[in-house]
Amino acid sequence: MKNAKTQGIILRSRNYSDYDQILTVFTRDFGKIKVMAKGVRRSKSKNRGGTQVFSLVQMELYRGKNFFRLIQSHSVKSFIEIRESYDKLLAASEWTEVLDQLISGEEADPSLFSLAVSGLTYLAYQETGKTLVVFEAKLLYQLGYLAPETSCQICNNQEKLYFTNRGDCFCENCQEPSSKNYLDKAALKTLCFFISQEPEQIQRLKVSDQTLSLIALFLHNRISAHLGRELVIFGYPNHSIDIKS
Ligand SMILES: [Zn+2]
Repeated sequence: MKNAKTQGIILRSRNYSDYDQILTVFTRDFGKIKVMAKGVRRSKSKNRGGTQVFSLVQMELYRGKNFFRLIQSHSVKSFIEIRESYDKLLAASEWTEVLDQLISGEEADPSLFSLAVSGLTYLAYQETGKTLVVFEAKLLYQLGYLAPETSCQICNNQEKLYFTNRGDCFCENCQEPSSKNYLDKAALKTLCFFISQEPEQIQRLKVSDQTLSLIALFLHNRISAHLGRELVIFGYPNHSIDIKS
């Protein structure tokens, strides 16, 4: 079988035997794949730089019947800034985790790939907390798990929405709130802005920590509902902020 070349983001790596690693890579051309990287843990391996988690890499792969094997890989962008800041490291860990969990598998999706790369780039160079929430919102929207405008699931009201731990939304008229957490009109507008605007535009928008945390919690609830289990949270919400659950 012919070797294949593609770009990819290293989402995670797992040590395998003494010198090898199994990489989870979100690639531009094959979707999310597992790659056997032989000998990559040897100090002399020329592929070490091209197998670091959070890196955007250019890879050459051998495609076997049931697996990909790494021929060679070099870093296109290592996003070193992410490794140099604890906050950025947490946020990037959450971003790659969410991508890993929500991307189904071997199916190329160029627009999702470019969103994933853009998320890492903004996390490396911009304000971390807001960036993570913005990209999680964009990801959920792109996967069809979030409408362009969030509204009451029964009457489409967009004034003040209480959300459940499954990320379902109801206005006060339609259901007795089972949770005290709600998104008010301003927060709903902010979420809509996150989905519809370019990241460059959003950088200039001031959002309070409280609003950001509530939007993050809402998105995490939605993600958990789709996963069918609790999402492990690294970066947000900031637990020092009073969120009722
Ligand atoms: Zn309603």
